[in-house]
Amino acid sequence: MSEATLTMSTEVMERPLTAADRCDRCGAQAYVRVTLPSGGELLFCAHHSKAHSAKLHQVALRIDDQSATLS
Ligand SMILES: [Zn+2]
Repeated sequence: MSEATLTMSTEVMERPLTAADRCDRCGAQAYVRVTLPSGGELLFCAHHSKAHSAKLHQVALRIDDQSATLS
């Protein structure tokens, strides 16, 4: 039960990425959302999230990688 509760609360807090969310770099479907300390958000496709991974981890407040949840 505790695992199910944790999953539900996570889903409430995080807005799932959809096909309407596009990579800021190339316009492909975004799978990773990067939240900045300023409150801004960046969206990246799987390719660009990997390409900029080192930099993103330096500047991001939080990184939501939803690539594993999308088919
Ligand atoms: Zn991209």
